[in-house]
Amino acid sequence: MPQIRVAVAGAGIAGLTLAAALHRAGIDCHVHEQTDRLSEVGAGVQVAPNATRLLHRLGLRDRLRAVAVAPEAIEMRRWDDGRLLHRTPLGDQCHRRFGAPYHAVHRADLHSALLSLVPPDRVHLGARLVAVTQSTDEARLHLSDGTTVAADLVVGADGIHSVVREQIVADQPRYSGQTIYRGLVPAERVPFLLTEPRVRLWLGPDQHVVCYPVSSGRQVSFGATVSAADWREESWSARGDVAELAKAYAGWHRDVARLIGAAQTVSRWALHDRESIDRLSSGRVAVIGDAAHPMLPFQAQGANQAIEDAVVLAVCLADAGPNGLDAALRRYERIRLPRTTRIQRQSRANAETFHLVDGDAQRRRDTSAEISSGLDRHEWLFGYDAEQAATTSRRA
Ligand SMILES: Cc1cc2nc3c(=O)[nH]c(=O)nc-3n(C[C@H](O)[C@H](O)[C@H](O)COP(=O)(O)OP(=O)(O)OC[C@H]3O[C@@H](n4cnc5c(N)ncnc54)[C@H](O)[C@@H]3O)c2cc1C
Repeated sequence: MPQIRVAVAGAGIAGLTLAAALHRAGIDCHVHEQTDRLSEVGAGVQVAPNATRLLHRLGLRDRLRAVAVAPEAIEMRRWDDGRLLHRTPLGDQCHRRFGAPYHAVHRADLHSALLSLVPPDRVHLGARLVAVTQSTDEARLHLSDGTTVAADLVVGADGIHSVVREQIVADQPRYSGQTIYRGLVPAERVPFLLTEPRVRLWLGPDQHVVCYPVSSGRQVSFGATVSAADWREESWSARGDVAELAKAYAGWHRDVARLIGAAQTVSRWALHDRESIDRLSSGRVAVIGDAAHPMLPFQAQGANQAIEDAVVLAVCLADAGPNGLDAALRRYERIRLPRTTRIQRQSRANAETFHLVDGDAQRRRDTSAEISSGLDRHEWLFGYDAEQAATTSRRA
């Protein structure tokens, strides 16, 4: 049977995971990335068991363990007095229950771990996609230097502003009204945050802060949201103003003030998502990751879902061969859409829940059984095995 050829746009977490999973399956895949130099910037990313189990199977268990932190818990606290509202146990308890760890990782570490799985001659830098065309026989990437690349399948892993997605739906990113300041602080400047490695959140009126250690505990990554009607930048390198951030969090718990006070630089990022769609492919074109289902980061699952997408798509394609492409893409959509749509919506709902002003609804949130049921309420999310779902659907 002739080999299927896959061309991927974007070498972020989604694109590299797909390239790694296709390489493992012996499928020819080339990744075309707009930037000239591959270096994931930004700060930390939480990788939950639903994704770490897939990364382990791709061969990254030891490499991740060497750079990641395994937080003992996720703690949610009140914005003013720091009172503990809710604690989700992680650490060994989570690892035992789900058979894979919860990790907090620097993005650059995750990115270079994924890159190590892809043969260097399969990643093409300085290759900006400007358009996609397709016929019954092939799909084609049109790059900004005027060259084109033909493939049996084009996969858009080109993020929230995906060019590939335009083949499937005509929609636009929608601004959430929220911006997020992100930063990395050397651990020695915030020793009070390192007694036990945890993901810590402080929830308050209209905004929240999250922080956790990364880089084997050498740095603390944080994100602090601030509402803004008029900010539209989406770039890890868009500079934020630490003084402005401190002002926005005046009156919050002293640990929040100390954390922000320890930051020397911050980036500021406007948070967008898109409406869920009911297709992830059209003809010889498919999308994965943020190109498929960009979500607000309030459930820390965007990258996790990108990894799940990539592994599932690779399994479906490995079964297909060139003549079964259409069926493979239908199967990929069937497996992925219900889950990613649910998580996308939940992430948006969390924006409201996290930011309730003090009052009845906030008190109900803080005392609800739902929020206090430990790992049980994460079973559907962390316990899910995307690869198994794909292989089971093969038998079905
Ligand atoms: C503040 C914040 C915190 C987050 N925290 C978490 C978390 O803790 N856990 C989690 O799971 N998720 C988190 N996320 C979400 C996560 O960052 C994204 O879901 C994830 O990065 C998506 O990966 P991706 O590869 O699909 O897209 P991207 O990371 O956007 O990568 C897209 C790639 O495609 C390239 N590209 C774009 N356009 C083109 C083009 N035209 N031609 C060629 N290449 C192109 C880009 O340069 C880039 O390399 C967070 C997001 C934000 C904003």
